[in-house]
Amino acid sequence: AVYFLIRVWHGSQSEVHHTMHLTDDISITPSLDMDNLKLLQVLDRGRYGCVWKGSLNEKEVAVKVFNPCHKQNFLNERDIYTTPHMEHENVIRFIGAEERIGMEGTVEYLLVMDYAHHGSLYHYLKTYMVNWTGMCRLGHSLARGLAHLHSDFVKGGESKPAVAHRDLTSRNILVKADGSCALSDLGFAMRLTGNRICNPGQEDTAHITEVGTVRYMAPEVLEGAVNLRDFESALKQVDMYAVGLILWEIATRCQDLYMGQPVPDYMQPFQAELGQHPTFEELQVIVSREKRRPLLSDAWRENSQAVKSLKETIEDCWDQDAEARLTALCVEERMAELMSMWSRNSTVSPTLNRTSTGGSSAP
Ligand code: ADP
Ligand code: MG
Ligand code: MG
Repeated sequence: AVYFLIRVWHGSQSEVHHTMHLTDDISITPSLDMDNLKLLQVLDRGRYGCVWKGSLNEKEVAVKVFNPCHKQNFLNERDIYTTPHMEHENVIRFIGAEERIGMEGTVEYLLVMDYAHHGSLYHYLKTYMVNWTGMCRLGHSLARGLAHLHSDFVKGGESKPAVAHRDLTSRNILVKADGSCALSDLGFAMRLTGNRICNPGQEDTAHITEVGTVRYMAPEVLEGAVNLRDFESALKQVDMYAVGLILWEIATRCQDLYMGQPVPDYMQPFQAELGQHPTFEELQVIVSREKRRPLLSDAWRENSQAVKSLKETIEDCWDQDAEARLTALCVEERMAELMSMWSRNSTVSPTLNRTSTGGSSAP
């Protein structure tokens, strides 16, 4: 078999790294007009380098700069973005990839993509509250992007393989200017169909180190019990567990759910239970053994069908039984229904008030 599980510990933060052999493709074809690419301002420092806001021929772009030791991660991310039919409204648009000599004379790898106006969903939810429509737009677009990633089809003689994201978190989802989501950080994404992964006998030479974020790990991942026999479904189901947590994050910032009561400050999933740096073991206890999940607030009144249905959707994503989880396509449909349900059933109209504690409403 081609799959190895290696656990790597970073201080209090633990991460699971999966290592596997994939076809190596070291050649990096310059695809950008480097002379017109300008790096303007650091947006975020990630684990693999740095993300800049920049401009390319006067257009705003984001540039992810990888350190040389993360070349494999760069190659994988570039490979996934350039897979046939990957382009989608709800997947951040890839513009090009480049290798260059950085300021200190070392090689750097650049991935250029569209700049997402609001940055990560995590940052967005920390800053803004949303109303019912804004919540549904975020949830719907997230599910729509993932349904595209998970789908496989043939179009124009080229086949799109199903792809699992494998590191879905609110930091790896971007929010565009119109309040819709775009999936990003495909560094650990993996093709599930097509001959690449399914024929481990091929001459696979290079390997990729995969990192999932502990906080978002599904119970079966925490238990090391992912069903490798149906690899394709199993990895999609792992993504769907994370979607449940992310929908919960979005809902906790929806002012229409609190009916005039103050909206609590943003918190990460399991932050209330385990704080800022939960360990793998702590999550094993809470998520796998005790089967606990983030609390669905009592303040969310169940007198409306819309609220009931929202809760069910979240719970059906993070189900302990991986096979019982909703598919991304199904969540996409549910979020579309939820969007129209509120206006039909609610007596309270969505508001756009600022509050002192919870940050401001989304624009
Ligand atoms: P890493 O693999 O190091 O986690 P990410 O691709 O997740 O890197 O990017 C790190 C952060 O940079 C994101 O959480 C987000 O805040 C910011 N970022 C990444 N891409 C973009 C983009 N296209 N537009 C705006 N911000 C971005
Ligand atoms: Mg990331
Ligand atoms: Mg990453």
